[in-house]
Amino acid sequence: MGDNESVQVDDEVVIGRRGLDELMASLAALGYEVTGPVVRDGAIVHGPLAGTGDLPVGCHDQQGPGSYRLEEGQDEALFGWAVGPASWKASFFPPRETVWSAAPQDGSGTPSIAQADDEPGTLALFGARPCEVAALDILDRVLAGGEVPDPSYVRRRTGTFIVVAECGTPASTCFCTSMGTGPAATAGFDLALCELPPGGDGTHEYVVRIGSARGAAALEVVPHRRAGAADLDARRQVLSGAETRMSRRLEVDGLRELLAENIDHPRWEETAERCLSCGNCTLVCPTCFCSDVRDVSDLSGTVERHRHWSSCFDRAHSYIHGGPVRSTTASCYRQWLTHKLSTWWDQFDTSGCVGCGRCISWCPVGIDLTEEAAAIRETSATREGRDA
Ligand code: SF4
Ligand code: SF4
Repeated sequence: MGDNESVQVDDEVVIGRRGLDELMASLAALGYEVTGPVVRDGAIVHGPLAGTGDLPVGCHDQQGPGSYRLEEGQDEALFGWAVGPASWKASFFPPRETVWSAAPQDGSGTPSIAQADDEPGTLALFGARPCEVAALDILDRVLAGGEVPDPSYVRRRTGTFIVVAECGTPASTCFCTSMGTGPAATAGFDLALCELPPGGDGTHEYVVRIGSARGAAALEVVPHRRAGAADLDARRQVLSGAETRMSRRLEVDGLRELLAENIDHPRWEETAERCLSCGNCTLVCPTCFCSDVRDVSDLSGTVERHRHWSSCFDRAHSYIHGGPVRSTTASCYRQWLTHKLSTWWDQFDTSGCVGCGRCISWCPVGIDLTEEAAAIRETSATREGRDA
């Protein structure tokens, strides 16, 4: 298979860094807005990509409960990190947006109402991790599935092209193996890259698996060679090494029932003594979708309805007549954890967690949901009853 030789779904090819640059150019020529990981303010977030020089070249992250450090300029690796604080959620479900606006019409008492109908460009997500693709699948169920899909989300999400970067460098906070969402990509991608270890000159090659016809079309013009047995073996080793190094675990067997049976467990109060109710965990989570609306008016008579992200930890979010349903930190944390790992199943037939570890790294006091779930399992009322 030489340059420009035709490729099809399920083919596995190898490209170099120049090939990645040409792939980005190919996607841009096809009309996509290419967006992916970039370094900003000492963290990996998302931004426009014009070439591989915009990626976090040589960056490696050190993460732990309540900590995140990025070491820059180490080598030629483009994907030598896990996940940063930003998730793709913000690209399709922005932190703030205008839902509609109303303005007085000249000479009539009837206002004209305009629904937000912006036509966002179609995104190509370049370098999304497998757990992040799983998170998008969950958000699709929540915001695009059901009887009343969210029009703004659907408008932004339709046609998204996904280039996955399989994960060879999990952080200590990752536990995607427990959730079945990584480190290899299994579905939901147009192309899946795996960065191989560096060659003698320090540069990397990439095994690319083709997941869709449009993935094949985008790759058609990119110089490539067919992946050989050695390339495929190298990919397997990268991924099995990542699995081996991932030491954090979440025991998911019976977890849904366990949490449902332990709403009065004393651990909720113990955790609340540390929890700041800051909501960071919900903001960085790629699947949390709570929002609130606010109507804003000015003296000209214009009214706008704004939607913004909310959180289990925002007391106003559960406010109904007379006060908030969840008025204590313990009840907010319990709502967050039990929704994510238990009642999400009732609503959407899936867990709400993909094991990305963001809520652990970005919790200012290092509260770790895997530790919380394990503590409840260890001392649950059900277990005591069973062991008696
Ligand atoms: S709950 Fe935490 S680990 Fe799970 S998806 Fe959300 S941020 Fe990631
Ligand atoms: S668990 Fe951590 S991140 Fe979440 S609200 Fe409490 S202190 Fe903030």
